[in-house]
Amino acid sequence: MAEDSEKAKYSFRCLEQKCTTRECHIRPNINVTIGDLSRWTTQGYIGHIIVGLGIVPPESEKEPFVIETIRKPLKDDPDGTACVFFDEDANGCTIRYSRPISCRTFPLQHDGEKYFLSNKNCPGVGQGEVSKKALKESRDLAEKDYIERIETMAALPAVYSLVMAPMLRQSAEAMERLSEEDRKRMEDILSKAQDKAEESE
Ligand code: SF4
Repeated sequence: MAEDSEKAKYSFRCLEQKCTTRECHIRPNINVTIGDLSRWTTQGYIGHIIVGLGIVPPESEKEPFVIETIRKPLKDDPDGTACVFFDEDANGCTIRYSRPISCRTFPLQHDGEKYFLSNKNCPGVGQGEVSKKALKESRDLAEKDYIERIETMAALPAVYSLVMAPMLRQSAEAMERLSEEDRKRMEDILSKAQDKAEESE
């Protein structure tokens, strides 16, 4: 199609095992959405993938809850870490065909208003098909990633409470069942721990 051969501003093709920078796998936050969880559930992979994920609670009121892949140290870089699903020996992703949407759209991102490159060192940029159709597919995926991130941020506090509430209830019930003597001992331990923490500040 004539339209397809028209030059697009952005093109990308993952170099996979031939990639030299591994920017995708070593970026500090590998975001996962509730949409990803839903797709993995439908595909039957959720049990395999969920062990590599964690909910990260916010450090301040302004920050959101997020789901990310767990990190692991890199063998060839003592100071570096990577996504737990990165296979350093094979130089590739062990869940490549069901990787999170944030990996599928990387390094193109959308912030609700515009598209931008989240990483300029990815050698896949400028490779691949240069057509309007390919550009539209990349943009659609980046927008979908943005929408899924927003939905996930909105839903996660409630999901987190659902998981944490029974644990907190169980712990409160366990405290209630303690004898007076055990409760006193527990209070002593906590008070000593607090004194130590204050001394070390
Ligand atoms: S899920 Fe796969 S593609 Fe995404 S960062 Fe981890 S190893 Fe890389």
